[in-house]
Amino acid sequence: TVSLKDVTKVWPDGTIAVNNVSLDVDDGEFLVLLGPSGCGKSTVLRMIAGLEDPTEGDILLNGDPVLELAPRDRSIAMVFQDFALYPHMTVGDNIGFPLKLSGVEPTPRGERVGDVAAALGIGDVLGRKPSQLSGGQRQRVAMGRAIVRRPGLFLMDEPLSNLDSGLRAELRAEISGLTRELGVTTMYVTHDQAEALTMADRVAIMRKGVLQDVGTPTEVYGRPATLYVAAFLGAPR
Ligand code: ATP
Ligand code: MG
Repeated sequence: TVSLKDVTKVWPDGTIAVNNVSLDVDDGEFLVLLGPSGCGKSTVLRMIAGLEDPTEGDILLNGDPVLELAPRDRSIAMVFQDFALYPHMTVGDNIGFPLKLSGVEPTPRGERVGDVAAALGIGDVLGRKPSQLSGGQRQRVAMGRAIVRRPGLFLMDEPLSNLDSGLRAELRAEISGLTRELGVTTMYVTHDQAEALTMADRVAIMRKGVLQDVGTPTEVYGRPATLYVAAFLGAPR
């Protein structure tokens, strides 16, 4: 479980990026954080990953403050919009790299990489370099590398925003299928309403640093908490 308790982030220039947000993400849940550009989505994700300190409030991972956990005990994987693959390594070595770092022997590593790659539909390109892949295949490699160690928490920040609409739709289904199959707790950031409503178990909607509404797609669309949420989702009211 991830718990944000009254979390605020103020940047040195006085910008309030995140304003008193409290939110729980349950084990195995796929939660989408939705809101327009600049509303504070990435800042929330980066604080959960321990990459930024909250100005106020607490972030707990299974009850422990994230900043008190050593990075290797956090069991968090993160994929960004501009995912960086290692250009000189093959696809298989890219996916297996986190396992290599943690000392997994070549044989079990290869088996695990094969399983993950097969699940992502890239089992036939393991020997290629990233430059020899399509954009969608590269994104699948980035996902594979992120989840190969079976993280407790998977954070994704607009991972599909550089892809065309057909590929986005395909990968949406794959991502939600894969994370559910693995039972990984996932937080997925997007500014795309359709993406949020199709992928999420629950959607959390932000505006200007403030959490506006949290609920299942049916709840937030059918019974939006504020006029802003209704307008943003294009819901009837
Ligand atoms: P987008 O959809 O465009 O990625 P976002 O919802 O992820 O937007 P954030 O990146 O979290 O938004 O930014 C929230 C606010 O904090 C914005 O006003 C942004 O300009 C500001 N901000 C983000 N990072 C920093 C930083 N390192 N220093 C100062 N201000 C920042
Ligand atoms: Mg962002």
